[in-house]
Amino acid sequence: MKLHKYALITVIICVAALVQSTFHFNEYILLILVGASFVCMWEILEHKDVSMRKREKNELQEEVKSTAKDAHLKNKQLLTVVTSIPFPMMLVDQFGNIVMHNNLEEISNTNVSYEMITYLKNNYAYPAREFIKDAFILEKSMDRIIKIDGIEYQAISVPVTAKRKYSGCLVLFQDISKTLEGEKMQKRFIADASHELKTPIAVIKGMVEILNRDDFDDQVTQREFLEQIEMEINRLDMLVKDLLQLSRLSMSNVLLKREKTDVTVVIDTCVKSLHKKAEKKGIAIVCEYESHDHVFCDPNRMDQVIINLLGNAIDYSDGGTITLRTKKEGIYYVIEVRDEGHGISIKDQEKIFERFYRVDNDRSRQSGGSGLGLAIVKSIIEAHGGKIEVESELDQGTTFRILLKN
Ligand code: ADP
Repeated sequence: MKLHKYALITVIICVAALVQSTFHFNEYILLILVGASFVCMWEILEHKDVSMRKREKNELQEEVKSTAKDAHLKNKQLLTVVTSIPFPMMLVDQFGNIVMHNNLEEISNTNVSYEMITYLKNNYAYPAREFIKDAFILEKSMDRIIKIDGIEYQAISVPVTAKRKYSGCLVLFQDISKTLEGEKMQKRFIADASHELKTPIAVIKGMVEILNRDDFDDQVTQREFLEQIEMEINRLDMLVKDLLQLSRLSMSNVLLKREKTDVTVVIDTCVKSLHKKAEKKGIAIVCEYESHDHVFCDPNRMDQVIINLLGNAIDYSDGGTITLRTKKEGIYYVIEVRDEGHGISIKDQEKIFERFYRVDNDRSRQSGGSGLGLAIVKSIIEAHGGKIEVESELDQGTTFRILLKN
């Protein structure tokens, strides 16, 4: 703007000189005219200058305001994202101050103080504290499994850089106990399944070796062995089928073909197919239907459940009566299978629904059981959103109760 003013002075002087040389005015009048025009022009320019500066200032203020608003919004969004992450995490700056955090209580011994928290000045459980310290000092990506109060966490740290300079680190702790537990169960399942498959294969192999001997010509033993081999093959066949079924049921999207079903009709079919087996052992089967309500379930799967429970009731009884009952209890449709057999101890009742768990290994094997029956039953009932309970007393008998919502 100063440049304008110098130009203005020059222009006025030039115009005055031109006027003077043309009209030969009195010097005083000329001087007054020059002075007046100078003051007028000066005022106009000054006013223009001030309003321009004012406008610039306003624009600058608006810009600062909108940048601050943007920053505030972004900070709020980031905070929402961070606080909705379902595991402990923290962002540590280059001075060791925790600038953003979430769920730190989980990895702390006592309540976390959120005033002036630094990566060291807090009551984190020892392994978490050591990890945070290492992550901050070593300035590199780290990954470690740590244990806090019996829970296993995968601790992960990522260094944060700004303009190629270390400016802190992001530390996360993810609870992986369930994943590890799942892996352990899977390993145990594979070991158990291999063991179950190995036993009949070993029996078949041994018998075939004997039958193949050149000097073997005992017809009676040959018949016995062939019968035994057939039995073991049937057991293998059943085991593989059960394993396949369990693996299908353990997938979250079990395909159930549900329809309005009169469960008493399903029970009648099961009783028909097993009554001969019960008769042979001198066991009576009684059906007491207090409810014929229709239940929304998969009739084929229900058939499998009843066959398993009724089959077990026959296998683990030496006489007496097996009672199958249906009734309504509040929102539940209840199916009961009660026997007067061997019973199950309290200790074993907790485990019988586990895969391959057998109370009496030898007796169960003799009955042809794979140890998977109740695990399959439980999976089917849970896939229907129901539950299964057991009540039993040794040498008195057992009752399995299925509760289905209808
Ligand atoms: P299995 O194929 O060996 O019968 P299950 O999973 O069906 O396997 O049952 C697991 C174990 O629970 C059986 O080995 C048996 O010891 C016990 N059990 C199941 N039902 C009964 C019952 N009604 N009475 C006594 N024991 C039972």
